[in-house]
Amino acid sequence: MVFLPIIERPTAVPVRTRFAPSPNGALHLGHAFSALCARDFAHSHGGQFLLRIEDIDGTRSRPEHITAILADLDWLSLIPDEPVSYQSRNMERYQRALDELKALGLLYRCTCTRSDILAALKQTPVSHGPDGPHYPGTCRNRRIDPAKPFCWRIDMAKALVMTGPIQWTDMVAGTHFADPLQFGDVVLWRKDAPASYHLAATVDDAADGISHVVRGLDLFAYTAIHRVLQQLLDLPVPQYWHHRLLVDDSGQKLAKSKSSPPLSARRVAGEDGRLLIDNLHQGVLPLGISLSSA
Ligand code: GLU
Repeated sequence: MVFLPIIERPTAVPVRTRFAPSPNGALHLGHAFSALCARDFAHSHGGQFLLRIEDIDGTRSRPEHITAILADLDWLSLIPDEPVSYQSRNMERYQRALDELKALGLLYRCTCTRSDILAALKQTPVSHGPDGPHYPGTCRNRRIDPAKPFCWRIDMAKALVMTGPIQWTDMVAGTHFADPLQFGDVVLWRKDAPASYHLAATVDDAADGISHVVRGLDLFAYTAIHRVLQQLLDLPVPQYWHHRLLVDDSGQKLAKSKSSPPLSARRVAGEDGRLLIDNLHQGVLPLGISLSSA
């Protein structure tokens, strides 16, 4: 594939990549591209390509989306090399990681609702990050009402004091210092669903022996959070390739919520999935779709 990054040094570990969709909507062409990048990177280095269904959020994950994801990947001939894994079956693993972080004294309970946070933001100036204003820290040092539902947040500044500066390497963008403070005290265990994406994905990448995390550039900044968690939980550090994104005519990334037709519509209409993948492989994209510049 024309887009594959070059590994300069041969890796000592077997190459293992994963495609990790959340079944809260239909897959689109951008997902096919991402799965293709992960599959081709692994196979071009004699490695394995895994599929992990990130169905941890019981309120948003739907079985019909899981069925469609499996059918879409089958139709595209992007077949995982091992049995599919499901985050909803790995809860104990996330709980153990949460307990380890609690034992380090880096987590605190937070009972704030969205409206509490909005009200606090009116009083307290906070930094803004890629996901919007930081949590204003209301519950960081206060006793909470044990009767209220709570989530667990990480005190990111404290965590960074413990880890010291952290680096990570993207195979295309090079080596970076991780800047998790740009997200503030993120939630690691939610009120309405168990482990957050950050905790679950980081723990699973280690448990699944993922050597190279291949995913879209839209997730680039989150790697800083994942690196902190790896450091605190003493997990191995994968290499990363954040690939360019497929964008529409207006430069917007294809998204489940936007107008890009779901892969299932193409599949049901009888389009040839293998041809679609062959074309993507050669950089031949459907009309109106291009690759983001960076
Ligand atoms: N589940 C995430 C998503 O669908 C991807 C997670 C990852 O690749 O780290 O956006």
